[in-house]
Formats: sequence, C-alpha cells, structure tokens
Amino acid sequence: MIGVLALQGDVREHLVALAEADALARPVRRVEELAEVDALVIPGGESTTMSNLALAFGLMEPLRERVAAGMPVYGSCAGMIMLAEKILDGRDDQQSVGGIDMTVRRNAFGRQNESFESAIDFKGFEGEPVHGVFIRAPWVESVGAGVEVLAELPAADGAESRIVAVRQGNLLATSFHPELTGDHRVHAYFVRMVEAR
Ligand code: GLN
Repeated sequence: MIGVLALQGDVREHLVALAEADALARPVRRVEELAEVDALVIPGGESTTMSNLALAFGLMEPLRERVAAGMPVYGSCAGMIMLAEKILDGRDDQQSVGGIDMTVRRNAFGRQNESFESAIDFKGFEGEPVHGVFIRAPWVESVGAGVEVLAELPAADGAESRIVAVRQGNLLATSFHPELTGDHRVHAYFVRMVEAR
C-alpha cells in the first residue's frame, strides 16, 4: 500500500495517478497511518505549510525514521523540497524530511516564469518526452555523488540547464507535477521502485 501525505497539496491527483498506475493508495495524515504504508508520495503544494503541519502532527521525526529505514518516497515539487537535505530560499524555520543529498532552490524559476510547461526527457523512458508542468517550482542546484540525475530542463534563452528529477536509492523527486497530466509514467516508475524493494 502506497500512502500519499495528506497534510496539504494536490493529494487527490496523486491518489488518482497511483490508481491509474495500478497501485493501491490511501491518504496518510497521522503517525499510525504512516506506520501502515509501505511507501509514500509527498505531493505538490507549499513546502513551508507542509513543514509546519508535519511538525504540528508529530510526523516529521517518524517520516525521517521511515526514510532512514529505506521506505520508498516520491516527492513532486513541494515534495521534492521536503526530501532535500538542504533548501535555499526557504523560510527560516522551514524543515525538511531530507534523505536526498541535494540542495534545492525554492521558487527558483522566478517571477516571469512562475508557471510554465516544457517537454522533459526522462532517463529510461521510451516514447514521447514527459510533459513537465512547473508551478512555482524548485530546481536542484547541486547533488551529491550518490544521486542519479533523471531529467534536466534544457538550457534555453540564455538560461542554464537545470536538474529537475533525481533519484537516490529508494527516494525519487521531480520539480514538476506529473500528477496533473494524464501521463502516469513517473508514477509507474515509482510503483516499480516500490515493488523492487
Ligand atoms: N513553491 C512551493 C514551495 O515552496 C512549491 C510549489 C508546488 O508544489 N507547486 O513549496
């Protein structure tokens, strides 16, 4: 059973995407519910609010323990920020679960480009590029040696290319929101990670 952290954000869209990727999924709000799932999705939303709520619900430490114990987790957008060891442009009191040896920059694409869509080549996927929906998205500023880069937004208009999808062990993160498209290959990739464990 895969849980979707249901403190805030686009929980329902992830539940639908997981179901369409043939996985059993349920929302997780409480510590007891976290204990009942084998894997977790942390949705898009607002990472500062998610951090506050995880602390208020007593979920932050249990989340860190499960990640340390190898639970597969997929984070999209705000969920990516929650999986980062280091956050740039975060709020001062913002905490993350951590687990992926990367530095992410919140709201990195800036005002002019707060929301945009782009075709993304995702490592190992056959066929069409992934349709990347970016909403006040973070980018990955740097990664440690153990982190595999799965996708980059190509350089364009004088801007550098940016890392937008990574994996480290059982942890997967994307800057963009595949749950908002009909293409569930990223969720299916995560479901295979969960099954392989
Ligand atoms: N900017 C948001 C944050 O800092 C993330 C946006 C999103 O998840 N679409 O959490």
